[in-house]
Parts: sequence; structure tokens; C-alpha cells
Amino acid sequence: PADPTSLKWANHFVSLGPDFYTELQPSPLPSAYWISRNLGLARELGLEQNWFESQAALELFTGNRVADGSLPLASVYSGHQFGQWAGQLGDGRAILLGALETSSGSQEIQLKGAGRTPYSRMGDGRAVLRSSIREYLCSEAMQGLGIPTTRALCVTGSDAKVRREEIETAAVVTRAAPSFIRFGHFEHFSYTDQHAQLKTLADYVIERFYPACREAAQPYAALLEAVSERTAHLMAAWQATGFCHGVMNTDNMSILGLTIDYGPFQFLDAFDPAHICNHSDTQGRYAYNKQPNIAYWNLFCLGQALLPLMETQDQALAALESYKTVFPEALQARMRAKLGLPDTQPEDTALVENTFRLLAANKVDYTIFWRRLCTFTPQSGHEAVRDLFFDRESFNAWALQYSERIARVDIGLRADLMLKNNPKFVLRNHLGEEAIRAAKLKDFSGVDTLLTLLQSPFDEHPGHDSFAGFPPDWAASIEISCSS
Ligand code: AMP
Ligand code: MG
Ligand code: MG
Repeated sequence: PADPTSLKWANHFVSLGPDFYTELQPSPLPSAYWISRNLGLARELGLEQNWFESQAALELFTGNRVADGSLPLASVYSGHQFGQWAGQLGDGRAILLGALETSSGSQEIQLKGAGRTPYSRMGDGRAVLRSSIREYLCSEAMQGLGIPTTRALCVTGSDAKVRREEIETAAVVTRAAPSFIRFGHFEHFSYTDQHAQLKTLADYVIERFYPACREAAQPYAALLEAVSERTAHLMAAWQATGFCHGVMNTDNMSILGLTIDYGPFQFLDAFDPAHICNHSDTQGRYAYNKQPNIAYWNLFCLGQALLPLMETQDQALAALESYKTVFPEALQARMRAKLGLPDTQPEDTALVENTFRLLAANKVDYTIFWRRLCTFTPQSGHEAVRDLFFDRESFNAWALQYSERIARVDIGLRADLMLKNNPKFVLRNHLGEEAIRAAKLKDFSGVDTLLTLLQSPFDEHPGHDSFAGFPPDWAASIEISCSS
């Protein structure tokens, strides 16, 4: 399209009715400029490159202009934050523009940081440059890793000042997802006894995203079970990749099982199961090794919220049970792939456990270990891997166990499997930090470079090994909090 007015907007969310949202206009930002554009996603969304590079697109994705046919709105939700019922929240700074119909289905387009909404509470409705770049890059890093996620189309910026711990500048991330509905949306209508709306919401989600549940004897229990399964797969993917989300509040849990709301997330450097990536999380509620149980706790909240639509509590409890089998199975499958094991043997569970234990005891760099392991052979020396461990004896014992296991596996098949499951590039904190520092000085090239590497993280990308190395010492002092 030559002009945003010719984009075809659909407004599915509006069909839920006015109890679910407030229509509003984004608040413009002065003298907007591009930080980065994701041309790959633009193509998937059917945006013409010429248009996507135009001033009209810049104004649209900053919220300075609203396209014909788009009905901007902010949705209302509630949630449990850090284990406590927080009551009503909502899209405090996210504005849904509507949906674009693409060849791979309908994608909602949302601006994050485009101004206050009725749900902003004390917030200013803005997002700062650093957190916007982090969300943009990590969304696409997750997509590149094959982990379910909301997507990011672009980041725009402005010199408009935003006050956080210090004065910073404003940015807007344009996100895309089939839906941004969270567990917290269900909690909202349940806790406020709006049961008709709760049913409307559940029916909408079933109709659009879980049509198979419609045929089930208990559609709402079936929905809970399906969400539990998707969430279990998501947790398996996070754990296997060494990803910490940092703020797993129920309002940050997608009903589609997508990673959503990138804040103080971190990809592990040295493997520390108890690692806490959120500087504001003093209790370590959202530590890396607690994520699978927290997800289950959150699903329990969702089940609680859906109870008014079920005949008995037992239906909800039974639906949640699936998580307890799907999560460990999905994690094992992911770990077997990382180890290069195309089939399942009874001893694999122990091998996976031993691997985690050894990595933790030696504080081994998680991503580098797995990537180096891709070239491990039982016969020749495996110095590159062994060098990562200070306890050589334990490593040798592990290597023997692993060598015995892979003796029956075709080496080509194994290497191929491993190189597709052990990324060379993840968005380590220090990489994001370097790109952000340059961006604050108006050099956005580092953001684009990272985007390219992270979108195909399993490829070698010759000449970019410095992005795949150990973190520098200063990385340990990076503190990322909820401030964004
Ligand atoms: P989060 O912890 O980022 O998931 O945010 C929790 C709630 O606070 C959500 O309803 C957000 O939309 C809202 N929120 C966070 N930051 C801001 C902000 N700067 N302005 C308005 N609302 C915000
Ligand atoms: Mg949130
Ligand atoms: Mg957030």
C-alpha cells in the first residue's frame, strides 16, 4: 500500500463489546525517528517495503496518526503480581490499533508506549528507549529460536523526555500477535463477578484460537487444558534455552502460550539454576528454576477464574493435571534434541539431570557449552568442551556416559540435530546493553546487527564471533529492574 489508509484493518477485539476496552487516540510524540525496522515481519504482514520506510509509516507506528479503519483501544485486565492479587490493571501504555489479515492468519498490531490510557494508574503511558530496544530484539530472538512469542515490527523514538530513575527519552515498540489476551483478562471478569462477560471472552478465545474445544463435552475445561499444554511447552522451551522471563505475573501470561511483556528478562550466562534476573525481585519468586512451578501457579489462577463457567471444581483440577505430564515430557524432548539424541532411551532422563547438575556445579556458560557440544566426538579430544569445566574428573565421567549414549547415533544426524537446537547467538544482557548505549547516542546500527544475528541464531554468521563469546566482566554488574 502506498499509504496507511489503504491497509485493511479488522477489529476483532471490538466485537467483545465495550466492557472489555476503552476507545482512545494515541498521544503523539514530537519529531519521531526510526530506531529499527523489522523488514522480515513487515513482509509477513503484507506491508510494502517502500511504504514501511515512508514518513507515513513512521507517524502511524509512533501513534502520531491513526489509519482509516483502525479503531485504537486499550483493554482492561487484572492480575496477580508477585503472588498478590493486584486488582484492575490493563493496557496502561499499550494501544491496540486493530488486526491485519495476513497469509498466516490475523495479526493484531499494538503500540507500546504511545501514551496514557484509562488503565495507566500512576504511569505516564510512555516507554523508554532502552526497554523498547530490549523488547524489540528479544521478541525476534525468541522467534528465531523457535519459541512462541509476540513479535516486534519496529521501534521508533523521539527526544521527548521521560522520567524514570533518571531522565531518558521515549520510544514506541510496535508489537504483533494473533491476540494479546492474558490470563489477567479472565481474572478481571471473574473477580468482578461479570460472568456473562467472562463467558463472552472464553467463547471468543475458543472460537478464534482453540476451535477444537468447542466440540468437547466441557468446552471451558478443555480450554484450560489446552492453555495448560501450550504453557507447558513454553516453559520447556524457556528452560531448555536458559531464558528467564523475570516478571511472570498472571497479567504477563498469554492465553495463547506466547512469551509476552519483555521486561527484565535474561538469557543465562553461567548456568545458575537459582539465577534471578529481575533486580526488583528481592525474594527470587521468578528465579530461573522456579519458572515451571510459577507457570503452574498462574494456570491455577486461570482455572480459578474460569470456575464460574464450570460445573465442578474437579473439572478445573483435572484440566490442570495435563501440565504435570506435558511439561517434563516437553523439556526432555528439547534436552534430547540439544544432546543430539534422535530417539528416546530409558537412561536419557538421568543423562539430562547429570548434565544440568554438572553445568551448575561448574557454573559453565550455558549457551557456549551447548554450541561447543555440537562438535563433540567420543574418539578425538573434546578439549573445547572440557575447558569449560574446572572439575575435570566430573566432566570426564559425564563425557564417558554421553559417549556411550551417542555411540549408537549417526554422527551426521546428531550434529545436524544439535546445530538446529543449540543456538550460537542469544540476546545476552551485555549485547543489548552495548546496542542501547550506542542508540542513546543515535547510532542504531548495533540494534540492526543484533536483529539480523538473532533472527537466525543457529547460523554461523562468519565475522560475528564476538557476539557469541563469553560475557565481559562488566556484564555481571548490569542490573535490570521493572523500570521501563
Ligand atoms: P508490567 O509490570 O510492565 O507488566 O506492567 C503492569 C501494568 O502497569 C500494566 O497494566 C502496564 O500497562 C502498566 N504500566 C507499566 N508501565 C507503565 C507506564 N509507564 N505507563 C502506564 N502504564 C504502565
Ligand atoms: Mg505487563
Ligand atoms: Mg512490562
